[in-house]
Amino acid sequence: MKIAIMGAMPEEVAPILEKLGEYKTTQYANNKYYEATYKGVDLVIAYSKIGKVFSTLTATTMIEHFGCEKLLFSGVAGAISPSLKVGDLIIATKLSQHDLDITAFGHPFGYVPEGAVFVEADKDLISLGKKVALEMNKVVQEGVIATGDQFVANEERKNFIGSTFNADALEMEGASVAVVCDALSVPFFILRAISDAADMDASFSFDEFLETSAVESAEFVMKMVDKLVD
Ligand code: SAH
Repeated sequence: MKIAIMGAMPEEVAPILEKLGEYKTTQYANNKYYEATYKGVDLVIAYSKIGKVFSTLTATTMIEHFGCEKLLFSGVAGAISPSLKVGDLIIATKLSQHDLDITAFGHPFGYVPEGAVFVEADKDLISLGKKVALEMNKVVQEGVIATGDQFVANEERKNFIGSTFNADALEMEGASVAVVCDALSVPFFILRAISDAADMDASFSFDEFLETSAVESAEFVMKMVDKLVD
């Protein structure tokens, strides 16, 4: 089995590479891919760079070029749900592109013909995630994640995304990775640790908590890998 572990920013994959210690670096399609063997299983690790386009490219490359059969995403997100505080973890049940808008033609937000407003994450990986949460004695929320090519630091935009998609958290890569994995029939799991509340103070909070939240998420995802290789 070959597992992809993906983040968007260097800070999100650094704790994973640190844990692995040894890995081979391959330059491909303007990005670096790190290959390692962990407990007898092949891992491919990469950060895509921020946003839907780069994350689409990286997820596709990990699957089509490197042959990954499952994909785990680890990263940080802004909270919408008031029950999510900085450092808390959220597992995506389904994801949507909040900035996809052809509503002028009578379509709902997040929809284009032959697409779907939501893509659902893999149920088995979500169950595994819940098991890991129990074992780690961590409260991990499940919920809807909304993705768009914008850093949201604005109450009004945050509330719009929350009410339109019933979303609990927002970020910039999850839904695009979900579309790729769904189309290529690769089970995927998107985990995010909260870095900010997507409001006025978001950029300040983001810079302060990026690293600690990224570590929270990475540790959880590596526990998932431990379970998958068992
Ligand atoms: N500080 C970075 C930019 C970070 S963009 C720089 O200057 O280079 C925010 C990243 O964290 C994205 O990868 C996104 O997925 C996630 N994220 C966290 N909080 C977010 C928010 N409030 N809005 C959008 N994305 C957010």
